[in-house]
Amino acid sequence: MTEYGIPRSIYGEDHQMFREAARKFYEREVVPHHAKWEEDGVVPKDVWRKAGEAGFLCATMPEEYGGSGVDRLYSAILMEEQAYTGCTGPGFSLHSDIVAPYILAYGSEEQKKKWLPKMASGEVIGAIAMTEPGAGSDLQGVKTTAVRDGNEFVINGQKTFITNGQNADLVIVVTKTDPKQGAKGTSLFLVEAGREGFTKGRNLEKLGMKAQDTSELFFSDVRVPPENMLGGEGQGFFYLMQELAWERLQIAIMAVAGCEAALKWTVDYTRERKVFGKSVLDFQNTKFELAELKTETQIARVFVDKCIEMVANHKLDVATAAMAKYWTTDLQGKLLDRCLQLFGGYGFMWEYPITRAYADARVQRIYGGTNEIMKELISRTL
Ligand SMILES: Cc1cc2nc3c(=O)[nH]c(=O)nc-3n(C[C@H](O)[C@H](O)[C@H](O)COP(=O)(O)OP(=O)(O)OC[C@H]3O[C@@H](n4cnc5c(N)ncnc54)[C@H](O)[C@@H]3O)c2cc1C
Repeated sequence: MTEYGIPRSIYGEDHQMFREAARKFYEREVVPHHAKWEEDGVVPKDVWRKAGEAGFLCATMPEEYGGSGVDRLYSAILMEEQAYTGCTGPGFSLHSDIVAPYILAYGSEEQKKKWLPKMASGEVIGAIAMTEPGAGSDLQGVKTTAVRDGNEFVINGQKTFITNGQNADLVIVVTKTDPKQGAKGTSLFLVEAGREGFTKGRNLEKLGMKAQDTSELFFSDVRVPPENMLGGEGQGFFYLMQELAWERLQIAIMAVAGCEAALKWTVDYTRERKVFGKSVLDFQNTKFELAELKTETQIARVFVDKCIEMVANHKLDVATAAMAKYWTTDLQGKLLDRCLQLFGGYGFMWEYPITRAYADARVQRIYGGTNEIMKELISRTL
């Protein structure tokens, strides 16, 4: 999308072809339906199947598990293309680039064979349930327990704000197998939808991301065999820390692409819109506003591209990813507010992408670790 300034250098020709295919997929299968999905509060499952058939789910998973074995640059392209459309409903990146990597990294051979090919085809939709009503930023405070009973574990607890919550067929649930301990008592379990005692609660009504089925989940005496544990007992917290840099960079990737898209919509609109006999874009105020925002977006783009390159080489550290997450999502919030202003009253109308983007972007500063937590992490390196 960037046609000016500092050329992007991280992608090659194969990436460009992949990007074209992804763009067509989003234009055909997502954009025309997204307004309806916002009303429904959920993206239909057949879209997941179509994304799977097209090779856009779990692309970085090895071929033997149904993926394409490509690197994370391809994941970044998918996130960018989705962000350019402004369609935030499909929770593909969480499924492909957060949930699946946990199963690949810590799952048994049996778990990997059982779940990853179905996740890549879109037959199984994944979610990860960490947050609870009383534990968000302070993840060590998780109260959901998994207590051994004979040859089973019994899970009890409640989760909230879970992305893909209604659609999920498989949930990685963060539990305490030893509630007396903090981080060291944490274990992860794979819990299938339909298991007795596991119920999906409300599809939560939100400020934005209205097509995303963010939900409550309840676990009441849910019995699972030990084979459902993901990795080792008491290792859960350690696992959750391993890919934080990548998980946060994903939010930054979507933030910068979101800024680029919003700038384009705003330039197009202000060029068209005539007030006092001239284009809104011709007022010096409009030009200066957009010049500033374009500059900051370019700065963000260069920083995030460097981070993408580093993550593809497994070199990105947590503090640098935290910088990317906090700074780009702050920028996105500011940029959307200022761009929306240039739309006048139309900027307040839901039918305009800028309005939806404004609402959708608010959560970028909150989820994936709040921006305050990002600053905590950065300050530890001072
Ligand atoms: C749309 C959406 C989707 C989500 N998807 C998922 C998901 O799929 N899975 C999942 O597990 N969770 C998910 N979450 C939860 C999200 O990660 C949490 O909301 C987030 O981590 C913040 O936790 P909290 O809401 O409990 O806020 P709190 O932790 O209660 O924070 C409240 C305020 O206190 C501040 N604060 C907290 N600690 C500190 C500190 N040490 N120093 C300074 N300030 C601090 C925070 O920054 C914030 O401003 C989602 C949330 C939303 C809204």
